[in-house]
Amino acid sequence: MEPDAMIVVASLEQAEALFDAGQLGCPGCPGCPGALRPHGYGRIRRVRSLGEAPVTVRPRRARCPECAATHMLLPAALVLRRADTAQVIGTALASKARGDGPRTIATQLGRPVSTVRRWLRRAREPQADWLQEQGVQHAYRADPDILNRDLVWPTPLGDALNLLAGAALACQQRWDSPLPVWTLIGMFTRGQLLPPPLRT
Ligand SMILES: [Zn+2]
Repeated sequence: MEPDAMIVVASLEQAEALFDAGQLGCPGCPGCPGALRPHGYGRIRRVRSLGEAPVTVRPRRARCPECAATHMLLPAALVLRRADTAQVIGTALASKARGDGPRTIATQLGRPVSTVRRWLRRAREPQADWLQEQGVQHAYRADPDILNRDLVWPTPLGDALNLLAGAALACQQRWDSPLPVWTLIGMFTRGQLLPPPLRT
């Protein structure tokens, strides 16, 4: 069976509101906006956030009545097929950009060093370059002045995180977005702050 395509939503509450308003378009049918309907739930996942007990998430599924494709709705606070939130993984990547090693980061976050090493490996090029591209695009849209700032962390990953964070803060200020910074970054990176884990 084809795996569900994935759509990133700000939150599951927002997804329900979009269903009610008929505003969730099918990515496979660009000509028919608002076609997606609720279609049950995905497998319940346990996700770990920063310094808190794991939270249980029941992903929402949607189906397009036109093309019959099903879609999984991923809340932007999560990262596709990762058991830690965007905030946790993002904090690890920011520590790396600041120059911390995997052991220090693992201790700070209370995660196994092997997990942190895996994240850091996957965040290298080409992922760092892709993140930088998303950062440039969203910073340009939110506040082009962000692009003229001096580099705080002069690596592709550091630059990417600065741009993404700058764009998220600009969204919060200019459009009064109530979403946390890492959730906005989750939207900008379409749930792929890291690429999905390699299948073994
Ligand atoms: Zn469709």
